[in-house]
Amino acid sequence: MSHTYATYEEQESRLEADFTAHYELQGDQIVHPDPTAPRGDQQIVLDRGLNECRYCERTKADGVGFKKAHVIPEQMGNKLIVSDAECTPCNETFSVYETHLGELLGPLKTLLGVEGKSKKGRRVPKFKDLKDHTSILRSDTGIHWEVDPERTTVRLDGPREFSVGTRHLPYVPLLAWKGIARCAVHLLALDELDSFQWFREAVSTDSHDQALAASTGLACVISTFLPSMHNLFPQPELRMFNRRAAGLLAEDGWILPEKMFVVKAASHVYQVPVYSDADIQYLRGYTTSGEAASEQRSLPLFPVHVREDFVENYDVPKRSMLSLNSLEEESPINWIQMRHTGPQPLSDEQMLEAGLTEEEIQQVKTDGLTGEAVLKWLASVAPVPRSAT
Ligand SMILES: [Zn+2]
Repeated sequence: MSHTYATYEEQESRLEADFTAHYELQGDQIVHPDPTAPRGDQQIVLDRGLNECRYCERTKADGVGFKKAHVIPEQMGNKLIVSDAECTPCNETFSVYETHLGELLGPLKTLLGVEGKSKKGRRVPKFKDLKDHTSILRSDTGIHWEVDPERTTVRLDGPREFSVGTRHLPYVPLLAWKGIARCAVHLLALDELDSFQWFREAVSTDSHDQALAASTGLACVISTFLPSMHNLFPQPELRMFNRRAAGLLAEDGWILPEKMFVVKAASHVYQVPVYSDADIQYLRGYTTSGEAASEQRSLPLFPVHVREDFVENYDVPKRSMLSLNSLEEESPINWIQMRHTGPQPLSDEQMLEAGLTEEEIQQVKTDGLTGEAVLKWLASVAPVPRSAT
């Protein structure tokens, strides 16, 4: 067993022990149907025929419409898990949040081959940047990456590894959080909805935005990416977990929101803490008590196990805690690390030959290269046939 893999698995086993000590699965997990199986195109309908909105509590009698709403976004690979308990106005609000979530997930969904909306073509969406100058197109034969040199940065990470950075379209982190956190509401039991009024309002309206923006932990998502060029979860999986302990701070060292929502989709595992009204009440008292500053508490993390050959072929999964509490629009660079399989690592000489200056060669090794030099560098990695003079 490789050292890297052994270390990773050891860590995940520890996380698993902590997670299962504090949380238990609520009900059944929901697994997206396999569209290639017989009758694999059958929808899973939550709250079938309910026609009462889980978010705003309105019904048809209140004049709002209902149609089968996607429980998690389509851009996460969901086509068939739908609900009869989301009204049209709430659904329209969520589609705005999903746009922000989509920009946060960035070009990855193209690289991973998550299928787009079109039923006919089942084409993987083309990623485009703000000015349509950079695009990534995935086909059966590979990935076609058009580069706008002015918006792309290339960084050399190792002899055979490089990262390509592309700027995201701007998004508002808090709205991206709502785009995924709101999905958790569909997995609450109907008789629990009254205990999660704050959370339901927080994900579907702007009435708690100021409180969310002021906190660091309320609007967070723990995201674990399994790095490969494949969509490892083409059939998304949804799980809700219940806290075992009596309360949010009932155990030393831990902060235990009443629920944890876990989604596996498109090579990511997302974990979203779901706070009940009682948790929020408790938190308000706690954060002003002064006790908070002196105490170190952590959230139990959902474990993500992988096979050893995955780690050998790609890498260990990357877990990050995304604090999405900001209301300010952001447009960060999204780095995607790639490995080039050319016959040999690029030497300085070869880069010189490709037309890069000494300065540019240094730059690609440190901060990264932008502008026209990006094209010269890419050409040196994947040499284009030269004309015979
Ligand atoms: Zn509604």
